[in-house]
Amino acid sequence: MSGGDEAQLLNGTSRIKGKEALYRNIGAANALAGAIRTTLGPKGLDKMLVSENGSVKITNDGVTVLKNAKIEHPIAKMLIDIATNQENTVHDGTTSSVLLASELLQNAWELYVKGIHPSIIANGYSLAYEKSTELIESLAINSTKDQFLEAVTKTALSGKGGLLLQEKLAILACDAAKGITTHTEEGGEIANPNNIKIISKKGGIVTDTYLVEGLVLAKQACSPDMERNHKKGTILIIDGGIEKRKPTITTKITLSDPSMITAFREKELELISLQIEKIVALNPTIVVCRDGIDDSAIRLLEQNEITAYRRVERDDLELLARTCSASIVASPTTANKEDLGAFQYSNEENWSGIKHWILKGTKQNGMTLVMRGSNDVLLQEIENSFSDALGVACQTIEKGKVLPGGGATQMALSRNLKTWSHEFERRESLAILAYADALEIIPRTLATNAGLDPIDQILALNAAQASAKPDIGNKLGLNINTFMICDMVESGIIESIQNHQQSLAGSTAAAISILRIDDVLWAKNDPTFPEGIGGEDEIE
Ligand code: ADP
Ligand code: MG
Repeated sequence: MSGGDEAQLLNGTSRIKGKEALYRNIGAANALAGAIRTTLGPKGLDKMLVSENGSVKITNDGVTVLKNAKIEHPIAKMLIDIATNQENTVHDGTTSSVLLASELLQNAWELYVKGIHPSIIANGYSLAYEKSTELIESLAINSTKDQFLEAVTKTALSGKGGLLLQEKLAILACDAAKGITTHTEEGGEIANPNNIKIISKKGGIVTDTYLVEGLVLAKQACSPDMERNHKKGTILIIDGGIEKRKPTITTKITLSDPSMITAFREKELELISLQIEKIVALNPTIVVCRDGIDDSAIRLLEQNEITAYRRVERDDLELLARTCSASIVASPTTANKEDLGAFQYSNEENWSGIKHWILKGTKQNGMTLVMRGSNDVLLQEIENSFSDALGVACQTIEKGKVLPGGGATQMALSRNLKTWSHEFERRESLAILAYADALEIIPRTLATNAGLDPIDQILALNAAQASAKPDIGNKLGLNINTFMICDMVESGIIESIQNHQQSLAGSTAAAISILRIDDVLWAKNDPTFPEGIGGEDEIE
């Protein structure tokens, strides 16, 4: 295509190419990282977020800042995606991932201006990443439920809320994760955080939050005359209701004879009775429905001494099914004996005037976190922190491997990569060195945010790791509480291996894909680069 044809085809499209495209994209990534840099680590500062309607939120969490900012730039959005993905998959390490991606790009820019082609830098980064994943496995330390689990969970919570709350939530998350752990046939362990239900009970103080064995739902039996306390029994779970059928389309029926109305109603009652007969034949202690239960059906269930709960949400039905080993059925008419589940006990308690149903299953121990707090905003914050801590605890149990925190792992990776880069004679070795240097952004930022000199700290940490035996040296990091370089495992500053694996994978992939862009086409009539980050500076 000739230049003229191309220009005609792209009429109305703004465009930046080559060096300028790369420069501006890296500028955007750097600006985004700059927005959250100061939140990293336990001494990271908080950000105050003020929404359009004036509501205020104070947070120390990188991903929360990014999600709340109205960011339009596509490159910045890519980095927000890696943070969101990090949050969703490993529940921690969001700020670190964005900082690392930005640093990888910054170092790539320095190589680019020296004349190294972006595809060579991208290749070097891929090689360094592959090597890092191998190195991470060799740096990892085996952990068990009783060793390191609490430390990993506490480290993940560091900086989130006060120390007392962190301590409390870490212990609860570990207890909950241990409580729902089951063994696989191959000898491994599975802990599914979805088996924990979280409910809030407004009032009290945050540290009154507690864990209940079994599931707690803010529900009560359909009729006051139904038995509420059962020791052992069976449960039928229905993904529907026991109700009169409502027409699915709007219809108009003209009745010529008043007796037809009675016949209509009788037929409906007959259908409900048939469903109840089917249930009674299965003889469950409790019936639970996602939808409603008709008054006539409630009476019949009551007569047959079956306790019924209605309008239970689908997620809760699934929790009940898992904890009682029941199968959820579409309707009572299709239910079999094998679909019934079993429970150890079921009762109701009155909490602050609201009836709660508490059920303990038999197979897998479902558990409920009862959050206490004086207002909704606080309760939401506790729920978010607890969910992250629980996710981290469950993953640590399943994987059984951890890594030293406080920048120790990044420093060890960096040092090993630098040595390994000597094996390459080609230009890729420079990119491997740039990758190794980028990893130092984590200990460097931890030091800066704690008010320490980053250059002195990096030099001291490097020297300390290099002069010790590798198995000790690789655990040396920067303890921000004591301002000392020491063994991170002994100091209890430990992280899950998945956190590091995902962080490296996400930031490397983002950096490489940004490096490969050499032409940006904006489907806009406005010829200016989108407002905000990285748009106006001159290329150096
Ligand atoms: P992220 O969103 O990346 O998880 P955080 O603000 O939670 O960011 O900070 C995590 C970093 O802080 C990790 O590198 C972790 O090892 C480190 N860290 C946590 N507690 C300490 C501590 N007491 N001393 C030094 N580093 C710490
Ligand atoms: Mg964290």
